[in-house]
Amino acid sequence: MKNKIKALFIISICIILLITSCRTSVTPQSTLDKLSETVNTSTTQKTILPVTPTPELILDVNEWWRDVVFYEIFVRSFKDSDGDGKGDFNGIIEQLDYLNDGDPNTGDDLGIGGIWLMPINPSPSYHGYDVTDYYAVNPDYGTMDDFKKLLEEADKRGIRVIIDLVLNHTSTKHPWFKSALDTNSDYHDWFVWADENPRQTGPWGQNPWHRAINGLYYYGIFWSEMPDLNYYNPTVSKTMMDVSRFWLEEVGVDGFRVDAARYLYSEGFAQQDTPETIAWFQDWRSFYKNIDAEAYSVGEVWADLQIVAKYGGNTGLDSLFMFDLAEDIKNSIYSPTPSRIIKSYLDIDEYFSDQAFSTFLSNHDQQRVMSFYKGDIQKAKLAAFVYLTGPGTPFIYYGEEIGMTGNKPDEMLRTPMQWSTDAQSGFTSSIPWEPINPGWQEINVKSLMENPESLLNTYKALISLRNNYSALKTGQYLPLTSSCRTMYPVLRIKDSEILLILANLGKQDLENCTIALEESSLSGKYQLEAIFGESSLNEINFDSNGALLGFQLDPVIKAFDAVILKLNVIID
Ligand code: CA
Repeated sequence: MKNKIKALFIISICIILLITSCRTSVTPQSTLDKLSETVNTSTTQKTILPVTPTPELILDVNEWWRDVVFYEIFVRSFKDSDGDGKGDFNGIIEQLDYLNDGDPNTGDDLGIGGIWLMPINPSPSYHGYDVTDYYAVNPDYGTMDDFKKLLEEADKRGIRVIIDLVLNHTSTKHPWFKSALDTNSDYHDWFVWADENPRQTGPWGQNPWHRAINGLYYYGIFWSEMPDLNYYNPTVSKTMMDVSRFWLEEVGVDGFRVDAARYLYSEGFAQQDTPETIAWFQDWRSFYKNIDAEAYSVGEVWADLQIVAKYGGNTGLDSLFMFDLAEDIKNSIYSPTPSRIIKSYLDIDEYFSDQAFSTFLSNHDQQRVMSFYKGDIQKAKLAAFVYLTGPGTPFIYYGEEIGMTGNKPDEMLRTPMQWSTDAQSGFTSSIPWEPINPGWQEINVKSLMENPESLLNTYKALISLRNNYSALKTGQYLPLTSSCRTMYPVLRIKDSEILLILANLGKQDLENCTIALEESSLSGKYQLEAIFGESSLNEINFDSNGALLGFQLDPVIKAFDAVILKLNVIID
C-alpha cells in the first residue's frame, strides 16, 4: 500500500514537471530564457536553489547600516540655498525633511536612514574626485561649520552621514603634488614616477603615464589630473589614515564610501587588487573601528564576486557595492528573466552569506534607470521593488525615486534635483550650474508626491515597509519556482516574520500560475495578508518538511503586478 502511494506521488511530480517544461518551451528562446528554464524546472537542478536555507544572521549591535536605506547625494546638484546656482550644505539641510523628518508617524518623507555625500573636499573639478585638501570642505558647498550643522540636523532626524573618501589619487593642483614635482622635495616620493615613459597600458586599455612639467612621467590610472598616491611610502599610508581619523573624530561623520578601492598599491603590471591593497584595507578597518566602533565603510570594487569578496569579510570593509547585481536586476526587468535576478542574489550569497553588501540600481557613473527603461515607469517601479525587497543595504542615487532621466556624458547623470514646478524646478533662485533636465515640469518631487500612483510614492511605500519589517532587511532569501516564466517568487524569513514577495515582470497578464518549494524551515498553515499590492489569497500550507507543491496564486496576475504577502501563523 505504502509503495502504491509513493508511486502515485512520483507520477504526479513527473506530471507537474512535464507541464512546467511544456509551458516554458512554447516560445522561441533566447539565452536568457534558457537560463530561466533552468531555474523554473529546478526541482531537478540543485545547483541553483539552496536546499538548506542560509542560517539566520547574528548581527552586531554596531551594525546600524543593516537597518537603513541610503541616499546618494551630489551636493552641487541637490539644493542651492544662497542663489549662486550651486547646491550646498545648507540646501541639503533645507531638504532633510523630504529624506526623513525624524517622525515615524508622518507619511510624507522618504524614510531614508543614511546619506552618502559625493566628495565634499576642495577640488578644481565640478565633481570633486580630484582633491586639493583632505582636511577641508569645498567652499562652493559652504563652511566646515555649515557641514557640522548638517551632521547635527541629520542626526536629529536619525540620518547617518557618510562621505566619499578619495584615497587613491589627489589633484595635480594639490600642494603635495606641486611640491613633488621637485625631485628634492620630501613629497616627491608621495607619487609614482618614471624617468622614461614606461609605455604601459592600464586595466581598461588607457595610458596611465603622464608627462609632468619636470620632464618625468607620473602614474595616474584615471586621468592626467589625478596622480596616484604612492602607498608604498609609509608616510602616505599614515597620512591617509589620519585623514580618516580627522573626519570621524574631529568632524563626526559616520563613515566612508571608498572611491576606487582596487588601485591603492600598484607596481608594474600589478595595477589592481594587489595583496598590499587588500591588506591596507584590513589595517584601515582596525584603525577606524578603534576610533569609532560604529564607523562604517562601503567600497567601490567593480569586479568579479570572488575579487570583491577579498575586500570584505570580518576583517575588511564593512560592505561592498554589488555592481553586477544592479545590471542583472535592470536587465532582467528590461527583458523579463526572474531567474537571472535569483541567480545573481544566490551567487552573492556564496561569497557574502553575512549579507554585508550594498545594493543599488544606478549611481553617479551610470545611465539613469528611467533612461535605461526609455521612460517605462512600470519597469522602474519593478526594479525598485526587487532591490528594496532583497538582501543587502540599498542605496538610492538622488532623483532615481522621481524617475529623473540622464545619459552619458557624466555631467548629464548629475543634473540638478527636480523639486517643484517653480522656476529652475525649485533648485536655485538664479541660474543653475548645469541646466535642469527637460521634462522637470512633470517630473519633480512636488508633483509626484501628489500622485498616489507615482514612482516616488512606490519608493516611499517600499522604504517604509523595509523600515518596518526586519525580514526585508536581513531575512533569509529563499527563492521559489513558478510555473509562469515571468513570475519572481521569493520568501524572506526572519525569525517568525515571513514575507512572500511576488512580481510579474512581464507585460502580459498571467493566468493560473503556481509556485513551489522543495524544502524550507516552514510548516503548517499560514493566513496571508497583503502588505503591498493586492491579492485575493487567504491561506498557504506547507507540508512537514517545509515543501510547497504547486501552490495556486491569484487566478489572474496582471502585467507588472507586484505583491508582498505576510504569512501569519494559524493556531488551530
Ligand atoms: Ca550655493
